[in-house]
Amino acid sequence: MSTAILPTYARADIAFVAGEGPWLEATDGRRFLDFASGVAVNVAGHAHPHLVAALTEQAQKLWHTSNLFRIPGQERLADRLTAATFADRVFFCNSGAEALEGAIKTARRYFYVSGQPERFRLITFTGAFHGRTLATIAAGGNAAHMEGFGPKMDGFDQVPFGDLKAVEAAIGPATAGILIEPVQGEGGINIPPAGFLKGLRALADRHGLLLLMDEVQTGMGRTGRLFAHEHFGVTPDIMAIAKGIGGGFPLGAFMATEEAAKGMTAGTHGSTFGGNPLGTAVGNAVLDLVLADGFLAEVERKASLFRQAMAEVADDHPQVIAEVRGLGLLTGVRCADGVKNADLVAALREEEMLGVYAGSNVVRLLPPLNIDDADLVEAAKRLGRACARLAGGS
Ligand SMILES: *Cc1c(COP(=O)(O)O)cnc(C)c1O
Repeated sequence: MSTAILPTYARADIAFVAGEGPWLEATDGRRFLDFASGVAVNVAGHAHPHLVAALTEQAQKLWHTSNLFRIPGQERLADRLTAATFADRVFFCNSGAEALEGAIKTARRYFYVSGQPERFRLITFTGAFHGRTLATIAAGGNAAHMEGFGPKMDGFDQVPFGDLKAVEAAIGPATAGILIEPVQGEGGINIPPAGFLKGLRALADRHGLLLLMDEVQTGMGRTGRLFAHEHFGVTPDIMAIAKGIGGGFPLGAFMATEEAAKGMTAGTHGSTFGGNPLGTAVGNAVLDLVLADGFLAEVERKASLFRQAMAEVADDHPQVIAEVRGLGLLTGVRCADGVKNADLVAALREEEMLGVYAGSNVVRLLPPLNIDDADLVEAAKRLGRACARLAGGS
């Protein structure tokens, strides 16, 4: 593999030429069942006719004008996102890390315009992932991501995920808010303990802090609700989204209540490409699908079917799978002691199925949200065969 690409990724030696629904065709003709979905991005699978039509129609009319002018598709997408959520305001960007950067800036500005510029720090959690920019690696707190990139950006105080007392103890005169993924994705599909998110909301309210949620991976129906925080009876003040919103087109956004957004006045933030006509045409088409009557209920139904099928595989292969966990179609299997998640991902690939490794020795299985029942059953079969391969080889 000789290539001019900067070698920052450990890539599998495989490339794809076409896709349809949950299936991907490789250059050598093999067909893979895609439970990576571009890391929770392709919510409608590959080449969905409604998304293809939205993109090609927009491509023939107008690609890009910049945010110096009004963009009707962007306004429509913002109106629909705010109508469906706690938020009153939306800013569009192109990726998850950018969405987080904007969310962090919004929180800092809020206290600046409130006459408390000294309050700029955010409490974050072990196992978190918020992106790879300088601010978001500091927020994520993963030492391997920060090594060699100069001093860690100031303003982030990390406490153990799920530990409400530690959060309370970390609140000080410089604290502006709390930043959390409602379910940790890269960290290994870590679901917070019961009452934790409600406890964070209560702490934020009691101390006059902002609650920021990173729903880049959990949002857009992945968990069976439009946004994962809806499962927990809690709303944030500021939220970052990306991944699924573009269905594969690079698109992100941060959203906020009117009050939390009050510092973000003209000139405070910007993006050349963010929310351009192409991206927001696709974003609107994704919303057409996800907000359609019954779509999210179907995600929940499919999720329980898949969870059941995976549980049976886990029962058959306790030497490989220690636990099946998840929320909606954000699912993961935690590998048993002595089995490496990367080896299970490789064994799945041998069975022509794709998954994504995560922290905590977990393999994420992230099918498109509109997948057929038959393909979920097929995925469980392939998972079983991959487990048998590993068990046989060890
Ligand atoms: C993927 C991800 C990000 C970063 O998104 P990019 O588009 O890669 O910048 C941030 N937060 C969470 C929770 C993610 O899963």
